[in-house]
Amino acid sequence: MDTDVLVVGSGPTGLMLAGELALAGVRVTVLERLDQRTGQSKALNFQPRTAELLRLRGLLAGAERHAIAKVIDGHFSAIPLTYHGWDTPYPYQVGIPQARVEQVLEERLAELGVKVSYGHELVDFTQDADGVEAVVRGPDGESALRVSYLVGCDGGRGAVRRKLGVGFPGYDGSGYGIVADVVLDDPPASIPVRWTSMRDMMGQAEQQEDFAGTIPLGEPGLFRFVCGNRRHRPEDMRAPVTDEEIVSRIRARHGDDVEVSEVRWASRFSDASRQVDQYRVGRVFLAGDAAHIHFPAGGQGMNLGVQDAMNLGWKLAAELNGWAPEGLLDTYHTERHAIGARVLDNVLAQNALTPGTPESAALRRIFVRLMEFPEVNDYLAGMISGLDIRYDLEGEPHPLLGARLPGAGEVGLLATGRGVLLTSNAEYADLARRHERVDVVETSDLPDVDAVLVRPDGYICWVSPDGLESALARWFGKG
Ligand SMILES: Cc1cc2nc3c(=O)[nH]c(=O)nc-3n(C[C@H](O)[C@H](O)[C@H](O)COP(=O)(O)OP(=O)(O)OC[C@H]3O[C@@H](n4cnc5c(N)ncnc54)[C@H](O)[C@@H]3O)c2cc1C
Repeated sequence: MDTDVLVVGSGPTGLMLAGELALAGVRVTVLERLDQRTGQSKALNFQPRTAELLRLRGLLAGAERHAIAKVIDGHFSAIPLTYHGWDTPYPYQVGIPQARVEQVLEERLAELGVKVSYGHELVDFTQDADGVEAVVRGPDGESALRVSYLVGCDGGRGAVRRKLGVGFPGYDGSGYGIVADVVLDDPPASIPVRWTSMRDMMGQAEQQEDFAGTIPLGEPGLFRFVCGNRRHRPEDMRAPVTDEEIVSRIRARHGDDVEVSEVRWASRFSDASRQVDQYRVGRVFLAGDAAHIHFPAGGQGMNLGVQDAMNLGWKLAAELNGWAPEGLLDTYHTERHAIGARVLDNVLAQNALTPGTPESAALRRIFVRLMEFPEVNDYLAGMISGLDIRYDLEGEPHPLLGARLPGAGEVGLLATGRGVLLTSNAEYADLARRHERVDVVETSDLPDVDAVLVRPDGYICWVSPDGLESALARWFGKG
């Protein structure tokens, strides 16, 4: 066995997870059934919390170099919201195509010594008490690979979930969308040439059952066009999107004289909303779209997958490196299932606010007014951005327990993927140093507390004064 973890799929989730594992010294193999990257991007953004997490690992600067926009706001059901009520260095969305995110993550992975195995598809697997036996189809036919753990990061239609037979409850929905990257000759004035605010992309007054929006992709003439209907979908969702279909929808939105000189790619997507009921079955895990699917309202899916990976990576590495405390691996399901469920909920709520019935139109009008209240804006911005994530962790109740540590990346914390104790108290510092599995940073800059213990994924798992020793044991094993 020369690999410990088999990661199936090299989308953003699989690449992030493999990077986290490799950073912790775990031997990892990444399978990708495609022969090469398509260069196509569904997602186009990092939410503020993802930016913070990438910053923790020194990945944000590279990503920002590939960014096409800095977008000052986000949206909830196409009603703009701002992130400024939150204490974050990144109160904005980084506009970046998913293909470039994958490139950045893949480059980091290569620096850590792991190459993606393109043209290799997982076709089957079985598991027993000690490991997983995977059958992989590659250019030279099928071969078997035995590993300790397998993680399905194989997307919404992935084989791992199906093979596991876990429940995937939710709703089929009835709406759909079309996504297309198009080159326009002489784009009309109704299409902004720069993407700086969601406000320009999707005027709330235009929100109908039919929707359409256009985003400039940072190359002259190149635009992302998204359209669809929130309530009715075509019978055959797998039918190829024709150029005529795209052209007529663009003209309906932007005028009959718009000339489309190229449709680079186009695809249909549905508003089905489903989540697996178990993120872990024995030695097999699910992460990213393999674990949850939803309508891409608000720009959250890729962000959710990257954050699943960040949550699972250090826990799986701890297990393989022999120091994971009892139950640590199971916290992946409890923590991330709850977060995924919340995103699915907010997406359904966004769909409910789309005009189409007199009731939803009235609800929307009220919601638009409500979102003018800063508290409402901040509540929804926290949810969409991931900044409000607070895991329900064991310990003395405290507002910081389970929450993120703002600004941690700015001072270089957690870059190595190890946990860290921040403290102004020498006794706590000595105790943590003796434990050896966390770094110690002595600081007097903490807000109203003497010490916090931060997990490798950037969440606070203990707050002073009592019980540091047992918190260290609970999260990092016996010292
Ligand atoms: C139109 C649209 C717009 C979107 N916009 C946004 C947005 O703005 N912001 C956002 O955050 N999210 C957005 N999303 C969602 C986002 O694209 C997904 O959440 C994201 O791609 C999930 O990443 P993943 O790595 O989990 O899965 P995927 O990106 O689907 O990657 C899975 C990979 O696994 C590979 N694979 C599958 N089966 C196998 C197998 N058996 N063996 C080996 N490899 C396999 C696939 O080839 C693929 O490369 C959007 C989605 C859509 C449809």
